[in-house]
Amino acid sequence: MTVYPATYCPRCGTELGTKHVDGRDRQYCDSCDRVEWRNPAPGAGVAVVDPDRGVLLTKRDIEPGIGKWALPGGYLEVDETPSVGAARELEEETGVRVDPDDLQIVGTFTTTSFADEHVVSIRFVVGAERATGTPEAGPEVQAVEWFTPEEFEGSELHEPHDVEFERAWKLLGTDRAQ
Ligand SMILES: [Zn+2]
Repeated sequence: MTVYPATYCPRCGTELGTKHVDGRDRQYCDSCDRVEWRNPAPGAGVAVVDPDRGVLLTKRDIEPGIGKWALPGGYLEVDETPSVGAARELEEETGVRVDPDDLQIVGTFTTTSFADEHVVSIRFVVGAERATGTPEAGPEVQAVEWFTPEEFEGSELHEPHDVEFERAWKLLGTDRAQ
């Protein structure tokens, strides 16, 4: 499978043609007699929520959305489960550690980050009491900060992280703060 449209067969190097399979035109290798399937790239991320301090956000230092705030997350490694990948990305970007088994799934989002790349991200939430480490900006991140929705007002979240921010706060922020 490929994420971007391929020109040549990744197995044998033959230039790919087109064949109508399962209702769509697919890239096809005549030599290998097989479809070169094109699929979205899977990602994962986690919102760490503290009822007093808010949700842990990262200020992106890479495109797309450089300079905008986001929830920690990224692409899965080939052999990772979503929760393991989400915990790894959290630690890489913020220095904060969580046990993948403590992560609660809250949903998914799909996005077209770059023109031809479709991403499906599996999103988790975890209470800050289950996290260890002092937040510190890692590579690909300009800053790491806690924000409540009130504090964040007027700032910009990289889409579609705005929905996830709200969702995570509703789950673990608002209820406990009351
Ligand atoms: Zn081939």
